[in-house]
Amino acid sequence: MANTPYPESYYAASANGAPPRPALQDDVETDVCVIGAGYTGLSSALFLLENGFRVTVLEAAKVGFGASGRNGGQIVNSYSRDIDVIERSVGPKQAQLLGQMAFEGGRIIRERVAKYNIQCDLKDGGVFAAITAKQMGHLESQKRLWERFGHTQLELLDQRRIREVVACDQYVGGMLDMSGGHIHPLNLVLGEAAAVESLGGIIHEQSPAVRIERGANPVVHTPQGKVRAKFIIVAGNAYIGNLVPELAAKSMPCGTQVIATEPLGDELAKRLLPQDYCVEDCNYLLDYYRLSADKRLIFGGGVVYGARDPANIEAIIRPKMLKAFPQLKDVKIDYAWTGNFLLTLSRLPQVGRLGDNIYYSQGCSGHGVTYTHLAGKVLAEALRGQAERFDAFADLPHYPFPGGQLLRTPFAALGAWYYGLRDKFGY
Ligand SMILES: Cc1cc2nc3c(=O)[nH]c(=O)nc-3n(C[C@H](O)[C@H](O)[C@H](O)COP(=O)(O)OP(=O)(O)OC[C@H]3O[C@@H](n4cnc5c(N)ncnc54)[C@H](O)[C@@H]3O)c2cc1C
Repeated sequence: MANTPYPESYYAASANGAPPRPALQDDVETDVCVIGAGYTGLSSALFLLENGFRVTVLEAAKVGFGASGRNGGQIVNSYSRDIDVIERSVGPKQAQLLGQMAFEGGRIIRERVAKYNIQCDLKDGGVFAAITAKQMGHLESQKRLWERFGHTQLELLDQRRIREVVACDQYVGGMLDMSGGHIHPLNLVLGEAAAVESLGGIIHEQSPAVRIERGANPVVHTPQGKVRAKFIIVAGNAYIGNLVPELAAKSMPCGTQVIATEPLGDELAKRLLPQDYCVEDCNYLLDYYRLSADKRLIFGGGVVYGARDPANIEAIIRPKMLKAFPQLKDVKIDYAWTGNFLLTLSRLPQVGRLGDNIYYSQGCSGHGVTYTHLAGKVLAEALRGQAERFDAFADLPHYPFPGGQLLRTPFAALGAWYYGLRDKFGY
């Protein structure tokens, strides 16, 4: 069977060691079979193991092979659509519950890192940077909104203050969230896998789920084995393909690209980002960046609808980096990679159950580092019979992409072009 390695990235090159995790070759029986070893799958597995469930995780490639091992590493609170939009769509009661959970994912990450001693270069502090006065106005109302839900570690930055935290002339202001921050994403997910194993959980790599036999006693089939389980959690996100056809119509895999410069040296790194916060701008098609532990600039941006891998990533992302930091014009790019996230039309996560025993969470639409950690907790609660928080997500309405599977990519690209124009002209 093919052995799928990590894509070449800065993260793969600086990953902490991990034990071999052989492919499933038997028929096994467990309480919960988790499909996918990214943050969603492993966060679920950890919460379940901590609550006495037996868990087997099947991973098609390697732990963290998907978005969890390739992302920008930014711990961003809340969801890809904010709570006011949720409130307008589903009403105040459900919005209240979702609002209360919007900042829990970041806390879960920090608890996991502390409890399981995960070495993933965790740093506190994330900045939302406004390019236009309109975006700044939006940040001001976002701060008021988040404070309504008890999130108080926020500071508005005027033009002078934002220059003190990021050496970029584009910004008119911003907002600092000290409960945001950044991590080495692959080392976080590898640490979580080790935590799962320390509690007796079993992870099989190179073991794609190829078929789910549904029913009262569901069975997940891999090319060489089977897992019989009481429950299944589907956590394959943008890499799941058509394993669960009813989920595919309402979500679309999209690619986004990241580059890592050569190490900048302490002095230049400190000039760019003196407090070592991560930054994302407020555009619809946003740029995001931060320093790595060895002082590279990790810079991401752009979206490829339909998740085709672009031929020359550096050619797409380097100009964005130079627009923000022209002072880096002579700096070499050491790594460039792409990864897929899963977009939904509402940009809210797609959560639910199929029958009584197949649960899923996917589609957090770009901002998923915190949400996926929360999702694991909420899924585990549902399997323990406490489904109130799970249902608050499961009841969010989702609609198919216009044009179906064939035309959803051009339609979404058209939408993004429109929003890109709005960003450009500051609407
Ligand atoms: C380049 C990039 C940058 C990003 N930057 C940020 C950021 O800075 N901040 C932020 O909040 N979010 C960011 N995101 C989004 C975030 O990374 C994701 O939302 C999150 O990691 C999704 O986690 P997941 O576990 O649901 O999915 P994934 O991490 O994609 O994991 C799914 C796993 O399931 C496996 N799998 C799929 N199908 C099967 C199968 N049939 N059988 C077995 N295994 C299967 C895959 O191999 C994969 O390992 C970014 C995403 C990308 C791609």
